Amino acid sequence: MRMKYALRMTGEQHRALLSHLFPGDGNEAVALLLCGRRQGKERHIFTVQKVLTIPYDACERRPNRITWPTHFVDGLLQEAYGKELAIVKVHSHGLDYRRFSNTDNESDKVLFSAISSLLEDDQPHASVIMLPDGELLGRVLFGEDGKVVGPFQSIMAVGDEVRIWSEAACAGADAFALRHAQAFGKGTTDILRKFSIAVVGCSGTGSIVVEQLARLGIGRLLLVDPDLVEEKNLNRILNSGKEDAYLKRPKVHVLASAIARMGLGQEVLAIHGNLIHADTIKAVAECDVVFGCMDGVEGRHWLNRLATFYTMPYFDIGVRLDADGSGGIEQITGAAHYLQPGKSSLYSRGVYDMDRVDAEAMLRTNLEMYEQQLAEGYLRGVDEDRPAVISVNMLLAAVMVNDFLARLHPYRNRPNRDYAYIGCNLGEMQFFPEPEGANCDVLERHVGRGDVTPLLDRPALS
Ligand SMILES: [Zn+2]
Repeated sequence: MRMKYALRMTGEQHRALLSHLFPGDGNEAVALLLCGRRQGKERHIFTVQKVLTIPYDACERRPNRITWPTHFVDGLLQEAYGKELAIVKVHSHGLDYRRFSNTDNESDKVLFSAISSLLEDDQPHASVIMLPDGELLGRVLFGEDGKVVGPFQSIMAVGDEVRIWSEAACAGADAFALRHAQAFGKGTTDILRKFSIAVVGCSGTGSIVVEQLARLGIGRLLLVDPDLVEEKNLNRILNSGKEDAYLKRPKVHVLASAIARMGLGQEVLAIHGNLIHADTIKAVAECDVVFGCMDGVEGRHWLNRLATFYTMPYFDIGVRLDADGSGGIEQITGAAHYLQPGKSSLYSRGVYDMDRVDAEAMLRTNLEMYEQQLAEGYLRGVDEDRPAVISVNMLLAAVMVNDFLARLHPYRNRPNRDYAYIGCNLGEMQFFPEPEGANCDVLERHVGRGDVTPLLDRPALS
């Protein structure tokens, strides 16, 4: 199978490129990117760590060509050496010139053959063109002869908006997609087809998210969940039935067959297992977007880290029903979080503390010690069966999917940055949106690091 290449960056990195490459004088400009990688069997993804702009006065700039001193690459070569990092050249073109020129072909060949022989890394590097509206298109080069091995199949910028540019126009739009396009706008439908989305947690909220994403026509879905359908879940897992509980079917398999029955033509992969496993982490990182639909906080803690290392937009949902102790409900609350790599995190937003993550980790890995410590009063109990009601789950799952759609095609009265968090209190019948806050100082430095050993810098994954 031919390798599919992708490039991902944060919204801020994209903004930095745009302002440097288009200073307003009509001449071309150039920048370099240092990138981590997710090296999969089918997808090879470049994740931007650092943007290095080449000063205008060091270049010879014209409206349709640029020459620049390549000693600016030296520092990046030193950083990349021995770490399998990628170097990407980005330069600007005018709006009507969306392909590489003969001059580009010659200069790329010289530059990338030099990079390959200096790094001795047997790895692909890349060259990208930016157009005045921010669109990016590019190609991947490999080896000491600087050979082009393929285009970037997709390039994504993850900011308040999620922008994706794909090499090939959406192929094979079927009757369903066309009909859907009339109601929703063909632009949106075409974009949705391009996405590969991981849904981690396929139970009370996850099954509802999966239903929406599948019917919206997402191109490829990866479902991750370690649990089997049980009788007690039947009141809230879409597409599950008594037979699934009787036969102890994995939740992911039940949902995957439901999507297959829809017959909308998307690719579905199911991982029946925990997120915290090297192979699962890699599979999720190879998707474009991740939705977290988990009850506990340990999985969310890991997912936020994963989305940072691999520069992914992360949508998280949490629903909570608090009993009043005498048979009634104290309050029904829920939240949809949107997490951008390098910005605030669930942790910096105060969604959980590390004691709780540690408690859940112990519950997962060492039940005996967990029970002993619980008995000794060291740990607060981790509620395993938080009560949930399908109507509340449906409401919050729809809020989250609508937030995703708003980031593809903004439709709200206020800008997307005002909705980093959308809280909901059903007792008050109100939504409480909150804007993006201060960056998470724990995760900020890990943006775009990609594959490292051990994965995510966590010995548990080695
Ligand atoms: Zn050019």
